[in-house]
This record gives sequence, C-alpha cells and structure tokens, in this order.
Amino acid sequence: MIHLTEKIIVAVDGYSSCGKSSYAKLIARELDYIYLDSGAMYRTIALFALRNQLIKEFRIDTYTLINNLPKIDISFRNLEGENHTFMNGEDIEQEIRGVEVSSIVSEISKIPEIRTHLVDLQQQMGFNKGIVMDGRDIGTVVFPDAEIKIFMKANTEIRAKRRFDELAQKGIPASIDEIRKNINERDYLDMNRKVSPLVQAEDAIVLDNSTMSFGEQMQWFMELLGRKGFLKK
Ligand code: C5P
Repeated sequence: MIHLTEKIIVAVDGYSSCGKSSYAKLIARELDYIYLDSGAMYRTIALFALRNQLIKEFRIDTYTLINNLPKIDISFRNLEGENHTFMNGEDIEQEIRGVEVSSIVSEISKIPEIRTHLVDLQQQMGFNKGIVMDGRDIGTVVFPDAEIKIFMKANTEIRAKRRFDELAQKGIPASIDEIRKNINERDYLDMNRKVSPLVQAEDAIVLDNSTMSFGEQMQWFMELLGRKGFLKK
C-alpha cells in the first residue's frame, strides 16, 4: 500500500478504451481509496433509455428521459473482487458493457441535463476525497481542483485489441472492426460535444500507455506522486 501525506483526489481522463478503468482501479487499490467509474453512470442512463423505448432510430426522447432521472438509482458494489454497477438494485454490469449501450452512450452523454445530474452525484461521492475517478471531464469539470490529473492516450489498434480481449473475457460477443469503429465514433462525439467535451486539463499529465505494462504504469504513478510531494517519507 502507498501512504500519502494527505487525502487527495485522483482524476483519470482520456480517450475510450485506453485502460483508464483498469488503471484507476489499480491506483485505488494501492492507495486504499474508493474507485468510481463515471462512464458506468452514463452507460446506466443509456440502458434505461433503451429499455424504456426512449430511443428510436437514434432519436432520443430527451424530455421523458430527463424527467425520469430522479427515478434511476445508480450504485456500485464489489462482487468477488469485481466492480459491479446496479440500476435500481439490479446488477446491470454485463449489459452496460455490450455493443448496444456502447453505440448510443455518447449521444446520451451529450445531453446537458444528464451531465449536470451525474456531475452532481459524482461531486457528492468525492466530497471527502480519498477517491480515484475515471472519465472524460473529471479533471476539467467534476474535480477541477483534483490534486492529481492524468490524461490517458494509446494507439487506436492497441485500444481496439484491448477492448476486444476484455469483452471476450467477460463473454460479451463483438468483432474487432465493430469495436474500432465504436472507439473512433465515441472519441469524435466526446471531443466535439458542446457541453464539457473531452479535453486535456491544462494541469493534467499525459500518460501514453501504448507499450507500457501495468507495472510500468504504476511506477510512472509513483514517480508522479513523488514529484508532486505526496509520498510519505
Ligand atoms: O468510460 P466509458 O468508455 O465507459 O464511458 C462511456 C461513455 O460515457 C463515453 O464514451 C462518454 O460519452 C461518456 N462519459 C462522459 N463523461 C464521463 C465519463 C463517460 O461523457 N466522465
């Protein structure tokens, strides 16, 4: 375990499928901090919209969806070492990772009212610090004062292959071409939306992990903590 001089917030932002969540989870475990997957929250809203027929041929019934937001309870539980997302008490972890949700989630996350609602929840969860949160706008919008901001990048082919392996391991069917297309589409939509687009915070440190192992990424993190003066001697 790593001991720090004070309780901090670690924001991990970046492109789709760079391994942000695996990295953020690892950091949270080493620091004994809470890990929060903000993308899972957008995915939950997307699943709700799908299940309630609020999306027809890519047209979203935004009005009804926004009115239903208070009825969508999102929570996280650790089951056998794995982080699971729950919607109104139901384990939806498998379903929110599938192709259907992935293909519409960036349309859902464009909606300003949805962002305001989820950012509010995320800020409440990080109120006491001691949290590692991954997403697209954590260092810019959710926690602009986060002590550590990491912006992750990786080569697109490597990202597609990693996502493919991750889904295969979970038993979720997908093709590599479909995944590559989805990654590129989501990056484009996330970078070009009007409200809190995916952008590197001015004070974020870039991590390109294309050719790095988890061990090397952790080493990089330790050095960053040291440079910033957070490592307890
Ligand atoms: O992190 P993940 O790939 O699961 O996120 C799914 C989608 O949710 C992203 O493509 C993006 O559209 C949206 N998202 C967001 N802001 C965040 C986290 C995720 O807009 N903080």
